[in-house]
Parts: sequence; structure tokens; C-alpha cells
Amino acid sequence: MIACPSSKCSSPNVADLPHYWRSLPSDSPLKAEYAPPARPKVSYWAALAAVAVGIVVITEGGILIGLLIAAGGVGWGALAFKAVQWAEAQHAVWSTSHVCLACTGRF
Ligand SMILES: [Zn+2]
Repeated sequence: MIACPSSKCSSPNVADLPHYWRSLPSDSPLKAEYAPPARPKVSYWAALAAVAVGIVVITEGGILIGLLIAAGGVGWGALAFKAVQWAEAQHAVWSTSHVCLACTGRF
């Protein structure tokens, strides 16, 4: 049995956060507060396109500028990957969180 970790509360009246959030009516002000963290909509196509353009520029003779474009694409792809990983971690935390129905604390 899970109880609220707040020393002032310690109520056993806690709910699974995802369950509780889904059960809220959509016009509830708590709906936004308890909402899951948003997943970024990232596209790797821009990164891939930059790398491809960089390679084309290199083969056309613009080695330095081509390398810069390709490196920018790789850097963008790495950033996008990190953002997705971070968002997935945040979402994993949310999906295993609980909410106290007595003091509305999240844990
Ligand atoms: Zn509580």
C-alpha cells in the first residue's frame, strides 16, 4: 500500500498519476497540471538532408563549407536525439508517478 510521502499528510488516499489524469474531465483545471510531459516532434530528415548537402558540396570541391554543413547536420541530429531521450525519461517518470488525493502532491 502506497501512502503520501509528505510528513504533514501521509494519506493512504493516493492514485496512479496516469490513471488519475485519464479519469479527469477534459475541462478540469487539473487536466493540464497533471498532463504528461510533451514529446518533442523532431525530424531527423533536416539533419540527414544537411549531411547529404554537405557531402554534395564536398564532392563539388567546397570541402571546408561542405564539412561545416555536414557537421551542422550531425550536431543537429545529436541534439534531436538527446531531446527525444530526455523527453522519454520525463515521460517514464510521469507514467510511474502517483498523486495524493488529499494534498494533491505528486511523487
Ligand atoms: Zn498527501
